[in-house]
Amino acid sequence: MGMPSPPETVPLVGARPIRTTERKLWLLVDSHAHIDTSRFNADRETVISAALEGGVTRIVDPGTDLASSQFALSLAKAHPGAIFAAAGTHPHDATTYSDEVGARYREMAKEPEVVAIGEFGLDYFRMLSPRDVQRDVFCAHLQLARECDLPCIIHVRDSHDDVIELLRTHGQGLRGVFHCFSGNVAQAEECLEFEGFMLSFAGPLTRQGNALPEVARMAPLDRILVETDSPYLVPQPLRARRNEPLFVKYTAEKLAEIRGMTFEEIARVTTANAMRLFGLGESSR
Ligand SMILES: [Zn+2]
Repeated sequence: MGMPSPPETVPLVGARPIRTTERKLWLLVDSHAHIDTSRFNADRETVISAALEGGVTRIVDPGTDLASSQFALSLAKAHPGAIFAAAGTHPHDATTYSDEVGARYREMAKEPEVVAIGEFGLDYFRMLSPRDVQRDVFCAHLQLARECDLPCIIHVRDSHDDVIELLRTHGQGLRGVFHCFSGNVAQAEECLEFEGFMLSFAGPLTRQGNALPEVARMAPLDRILVETDSPYLVPQPLRARRNEPLFVKYTAEKLAEIRGMTFEEIARVTTANAMRLFGLGESSR
């Protein structure tokens, strides 16, 4: 019978260590959730509480245009340390971007709650904005990320080659995440050549018929994140019509299964990665 050992702590980069006795069963970051959208108007605070009480202790809400980025920032201010915002214009809305909007993002980026530029990217699947406009707006966001010294949250859909080309020419030295990664192993390898970038897995990892399990197996452990992309992409086996941050645990569970790791290990690794990439948990940058 020796002295009682000191309480075990969970090492998290940049976070207050949490005593085992008060630790949740798991502790996750939803690195991408659009909780600012109108689909959460009726019950937003309930959804946020459910996530926080359920172990999803931090949520990154990326804007999709100026108004959405501003709302994401106001949510972050209302939930300090739990919700963080990103400022950016989604490729669907690329035609709403202007130098003036960019200047507003630059101002917003001075707020400690704004932890990234995004989401921006190229979407040639729906092509809701002309391709040339999307490419110009993409480059403008890379420039913003560089000026503000913030990571990029990048949306890629049927546009892998162009994204890689523009990153090679305009994105050297930047850091960020390929959000809701949906490509194959060869594409993942190209993405991972950008040393500051991570791959983020969402609900599609839980579904059949894609290359994501292979990608999830090969990706370096220190370069993977999990996300919901709420309100979209409900993970299996849920039948919910709307995704929410709490459900990120299903993607993390699948990732643990694929990697042959425990759920807690995957939670710890992906949370540490998110904290490091976005600087979450620091009082100021
Ligand atoms: Zn998104």
